[in-house]
Amino acid sequence: MTEKNETITLIGAGLNGPLLGLELAKRGFKVDIYERRPDMRRVRMSAGRSINLALSARGIYALTQSNLWKGMQNIVLPMRGRMMHSTTSEITFQPYGRNESDVNNSISRAELNVALMNAAEEHDVRIHFKKRCMGIDLKNNLLAIRDEETGKEQAISTSVVIACDGSASVIRSEMLKRSRFNFSQQHLDYGYKELTVPALPGGTHSLDVGALHIWPRGNYMLIALPNIDGTFACILFLPFEGEDSFERLTTRAAVHEFFRSRFPDAVPLMPDLTDNFFANPVGSMVTIKCSPWHADGKALLLGDAAHAIVPFFGQGINCGFEDCTVLLQLLDQHGADWNRVFTEFERARKENTDAIADLAVENFVEMRDRVADPRFLFRKKAELALQEKYPQRFVPKYSMVTFLRVPYATARKRGQVQDRILTELCAHIDRIEGLDWAKAETMIHGELTPLEY
Ligand SMILES: Cc1cc2nc3c(=O)[nH]c(=O)nc-3n(C[C@H](O)[C@H](O)[C@H](O)COP(=O)(O)OP(=O)(O)OC[C@H]3O[C@@H](n4cnc5c(N)ncnc54)[C@H](O)[C@@H]3O)c2cc1C
Repeated sequence: MTEKNETITLIGAGLNGPLLGLELAKRGFKVDIYERRPDMRRVRMSAGRSINLALSARGIYALTQSNLWKGMQNIVLPMRGRMMHSTTSEITFQPYGRNESDVNNSISRAELNVALMNAAEEHDVRIHFKKRCMGIDLKNNLLAIRDEETGKEQAISTSVVIACDGSASVIRSEMLKRSRFNFSQQHLDYGYKELTVPALPGGTHSLDVGALHIWPRGNYMLIALPNIDGTFACILFLPFEGEDSFERLTTRAAVHEFFRSRFPDAVPLMPDLTDNFFANPVGSMVTIKCSPWHADGKALLLGDAAHAIVPFFGQGINCGFEDCTVLLQLLDQHGADWNRVFTEFERARKENTDAIADLAVENFVEMRDRVADPRFLFRKKAELALQEKYPQRFVPKYSMVTFLRVPYATARKRGQVQDRILTELCAHIDRIEGLDWAKAETMIHGELTPLEY
């Protein structure tokens, strides 16, 4: 067992690293974090990978437990629902839930990262910037750390390593070399590109600030999330290849024409559209599943390093912060018996992280295609009506995932049952008045137990 005065080494000062580091430090451990990038508080740089994030119940819970959430209200904008933009520039609003409190929150990735690093350092976590982990000798728990300025490599001995180094984790690559390590990665045929809608003069927003904006176009989509400085961070999700794809958008004229014909109401909002388009890279999206997440109680994968998911449920960091919550609960329960804590952590999390990975891929189809379909919109209405009548039993999947902390695997299973019930109840009707409530009662009471959360 590790003594509390021993050092725990974390790789990566992205989002999970500093949150976990600060909670470990509060529990009396010494914590070192090695981060390959420079300190973003001192060097101006892009936070990379989408400039804002949707933060919801699971993330908020973890930040509240760390007494950080209240202090973040000035960097958060609540979004009440989806604002859909049609090709003819009509706008339709779909609330996320029944209650005013059912909101998703847009938060700047960089501001969140800075707040977490500041809080970690206040608790004496040492963050070593420009120090890249090159690998680990898992037998002896020796880390190879390279100074990004001098190129010098140093061996660091540590009893416990927690890899918070994201979807391309170096520690995971080392675990891959061990026997019986399971690994799968599935790339989408889609890429993404970040664009910006600037603020109006005076710093006001040029679109409704209380919504996540979506331009669903069947096979692809544009989305926009509000920032506190009056801008919107937009992301274009588009196939890499094919008719409407990144490979076709190689000239300014092609880009302008693509946006003018597909997203006509977005074009006037983006005066620097083509400059922006060619300045920003095309990112790829991957689902990674692997196991086991730990090596003999000495090294653990956490967050994207263990389970990277595609961004369409807005759950990547919410899921990562929930990892931190669960790991810390187990640590409080069992003490620093790392082998036991890591084993139970994986047992508690794996089926849930697999479930949110699958839900995230499924939600891509819903966002880019189905939200514009009148039948889908009718089903949404029926869903809300059923929830109104059976609030304990029929809780929409989106609400279970986003507003509640129902385990993801439970949300997925119940969501599938509810989908089937909805399909049957909505099959031959197009008005809520036509709902067969007797049938609904039988199906819902027969197939769904009251939800415990
Ligand atoms: C386009 C897009 C949109 C997204 N939107 C959302 C959203 O709305 N809501 C949501 O919850 N999630 C979202 N996500 C997912 C979210 O960004 C990730 O789940 C989250 O950042 C994972 O946190 P992490 O700490 O595990 O990894 P990261 O945030 O990736 O941090 C890893 C850190 O490790 C460092 N590092 C990497 N390798 C090394 C090394 N060898 N040595 C030292 N340091 C290293 C990196 O520099 C980085 O600082 C989105 C992702 C993408 C791509």
